[in-house]
Amino acid sequence: MKPVLPGAALGVLGSGQLGRMFAIAARRMGYRVHTFSPDADTPTGQVSDIEVIAPYDDLDAVRRFAAGVSVVTFEFENVPAPTAAAAAEYAPVRPRGEVLHITQHRIREKTFLARAGLPHTPFRTVTTPGDLARAVADLGCPSILKTADFGYDGKGQVRVTSPDHAASAWASIGNVPAVLEAFIPFECEVSIVAARSADGSYADWGVIENRHRNHILDISIAPSSVAPAVAENAREIARAVLEALDVVGVLCVEFFVEPGGRLLINELAPRPHNSGHLTFDASVTSQFEQQLRAVCGLPLGSTELLCPAAMANLLGDVWERGEPNWRACVAHPQVKLHLYGKSEARHGRKMGHLTALASDPSTALERVLAARNALACPQNYT
Ligand code: AMP
Repeated sequence: MKPVLPGAALGVLGSGQLGRMFAIAARRMGYRVHTFSPDADTPTGQVSDIEVIAPYDDLDAVRRFAAGVSVVTFEFENVPAPTAAAAAEYAPVRPRGEVLHITQHRIREKTFLARAGLPHTPFRTVTTPGDLARAVADLGCPSILKTADFGYDGKGQVRVTSPDHAASAWASIGNVPAVLEAFIPFECEVSIVAARSADGSYADWGVIENRHRNHILDISIAPSSVAPAVAENAREIARAVLEALDVVGVLCVEFFVEPGGRLLINELAPRPHNSGHLTFDASVTSQFEQQLRAVCGLPLGSTELLCPAAMANLLGDVWERGEPNWRACVAHPQVKLHLYGKSEARHGRKMGHLTALASDPSTALERVLAARNALACPQNYT
């Protein structure tokens, strides 16, 4: 494929914050952006040239959309496989639809990891009551039952605390196809966000440390404090994942780090990732610009971290006691505010994030937490 150069129109399937930050990077470089999703006035649509509003299963609308752009990428991995296939009739889809198909379904994703010999959380597939009983006997308790489809941020997950509780746990997620995972008493969670081009070139931002609250990412810190050998191993595993999947674009590998430093892959996200948001302010090339470079067939940019950074998510909960105190927050001069343009602040909904820069990771963390705490300060305009 010839490179897609500035001035061309890029298509994004999905319309959330990941597409918004992709569109901002693309527009900065002189591209046009078209977005496709069932919703109106979306985070991506607000900063795009064209916002197409149609269901993902309206394949004629998908074909018309793809015919109007030079390349299609996505920011939402639950785009159905027929949608990606219909788009591919009219424009290159990057990463290819098969990457979505594998990573949007936990059974397919874990089976891929197992077959590729990549280290992953021990699991069993559960589609019948018999599978469930055998899985609990094999993996023990506690263990975690996760739906195969549409799982993210801890949705569709339930902890199985005893064999007697297994059937009710499965009923609570609707008795749908699922995986049972061994519970991992991890020391920490880390991720590698990486990019790969059609010519096989590869780049990542190194290991990012992640802290979750209620199963949702809360804080990311870069660089992480894991031992150099663990960091090197994580990068090798991530590279092997992108090569085995033949990814053209950006993919995030989330890991559990066990005591002793062994890495287990928790899950894959075939797109820019929340843990890579800090690259927007802290790196020579952000994960969003890199996605653009990879899918457009341009050389990858430098992933050098210009300085240590920490990111804190802003969930809808921050609005619970009224409008946050933005003035107090942006009074922190080393902190950058990102808001996604979502009008309704629901509990647990990702509304924005803050990134703090510093000369060391712990100061970056202190700064980002101070700025986030400032959002709750009483407002007194004088
Ligand atoms: P997930 O949506 O599968 O990434 O799960 C969200 C979070 O739940 C993870 O980042 C972990 O903090 C926790 N979690 C998920 N699976 C496991 C597991 N097998 N063992 C321990 N903690 C887990």
